[in-house]
Amino acid sequence: PQTVRWLFADQLGPHFLDTPDQRAVLIESSRVFARRTVHRRKAHLVLSAMRHRAAELGDQAVHVRAATYREGLAQATEQLTADERAAGLSVSDPTSYAARRFVRSLDGVHVLPARGWAVTHEEFAHWAGRRGEPGEKRLLMEDFYREVRRHHHLLLEPDGEPLGGRWNFDHDNREPAPKQPTLEQAAGVPEPWWPDEDDVDAQVRDDLDRMACDDGVEFVGDDGPRRFAVTRREALHVMRDFLEHRLEAFGTYEDAMLARDRWMAHSLMSVPLNLGLVHPLEVVQRAEARHREHGARLASVEGFVRQVIGWREWVWHLYWHLGEDYGQRNALGATEPIPEWFADLDARGEVRAACLSDVLGTVREEGWVHHIPRLMVLGGYALARGWNPQEMTDWFHTRFVDGYAWVMAANVVGMSQHADGGVMATKPYWSGGAYIDKMSDYCGRCPYDPKKRLGDDACPFTGGYWAFTARHQEMLATNPRTSRAVSGLRRLKDADAVLAQEVDRGSSAP
Ligand code: SF4
Repeated sequence: PQTVRWLFADQLGPHFLDTPDQRAVLIESSRVFARRTVHRRKAHLVLSAMRHRAAELGDQAVHVRAATYREGLAQATEQLTADERAAGLSVSDPTSYAARRFVRSLDGVHVLPARGWAVTHEEFAHWAGRRGEPGEKRLLMEDFYREVRRHHHLLLEPDGEPLGGRWNFDHDNREPAPKQPTLEQAAGVPEPWWPDEDDVDAQVRDDLDRMACDDGVEFVGDDGPRRFAVTRREALHVMRDFLEHRLEAFGTYEDAMLARDRWMAHSLMSVPLNLGLVHPLEVVQRAEARHREHGARLASVEGFVRQVIGWREWVWHLYWHLGEDYGQRNALGATEPIPEWFADLDARGEVRAACLSDVLGTVREEGWVHHIPRLMVLGGYALARGWNPQEMTDWFHTRFVDGYAWVMAANVVGMSQHADGGVMATKPYWSGGAYIDKMSDYCGRCPYDPKKRLGDDACPFTGGYWAFTARHQEMLATNPRTSRAVSGLRRLKDADAVLAQEVDRGSSAP
């Protein structure tokens, strides 16, 4: 007999059931929100997605609310028939070490291989094994990404060569910010399609209010109208909207930032993908079809496919491949705590730096900014100030609507904070104001000057760049990709004064 499938809140698509009519158990655990402060929008999305799925499944699902998963399981089991209890529960391998340990510790729960990925753990292990251990021969995202494209015949010519003659169109993407204030004006990209809220969302809002008032649960951030898809139907609508109206400009401006256009041409698919509502392969196949059937710009399509079955799939496999201890690495010895103005997303009026103020404000309002503000503004600022990488990982995990343990380990510890000593990236991503000035329209509206490293109007990113270079010059000098920064530092006559200024600024709001 078929087992009853236990579905976690990030396992909500049809591919997590063996047959469309399989019985399912969904458990809401209130302890999850009591354990740590999360963005209220994130709590809203998770609960709304789960309740919408339970409603869709109707009598097929047992939906329980309990303090803990263990209590929820006991309650759910009581509602099953004797035959269903005899068949037992099964669950797809969950997405964090803690959850995996928990489900494996339970009697009578059969743990299945993870679902919802383009590559299985076995396939990844086989591929990585052929390349030796990390640190010996490097594991490179680019190699992995090409392997996935070959394996799934994505964007390939009939002879197996990449479509358009190249695997990588980065060179044609990543243009600086346009002159116009929005992508609508620059490239005719309309505002994204937004889902309509319904009674389920209203009930979630009431419940979150109650948790905050009666149960002392702490949330951060605003919970305005819902922006992200929580049902499969909504996710497919968002996808269609992206393919028809936004994909064309996606690659060109994927790294640019505009103060008046926070969504630009991004897909807004990270939430429905991470809730498991859609499968990554169906997403990239639809993007490829848009190119083949409607002539969508190949560089944009390739850039999007690279994000989904390149980066996203890569950080998922590295999360498991590198082991649980990976998240605790702190190769640069960064020990400063995250300051309150940053942690609470409540820097209104306090932060004068235009880029940081806008990006933090958007995280407060939306629980989301795209990958460049995450990496180069938020991550870059923390890196330059020596903030603790584990606190930063937790901060990204809880403040972002698409944040999960598996997403943030490699992205924050590895890419953003270089705390793994170079496993993920061959060099730290640290930059001065010049990069932000080139890629955004922030600097023109900022009291600081991106070209200045010293003085009252010295850009905190530019000053921070030199302070970081000075602090880590020994390590940076030995890497051919970063040694030029150290040579530059040694030519600066005012290096000591810049370092003293930045030490003085410390972690106060810039
Ligand atoms: Fe940000 Fe510096 Fe530009 Fe101001 S001048 S917006 S702080 S990069």
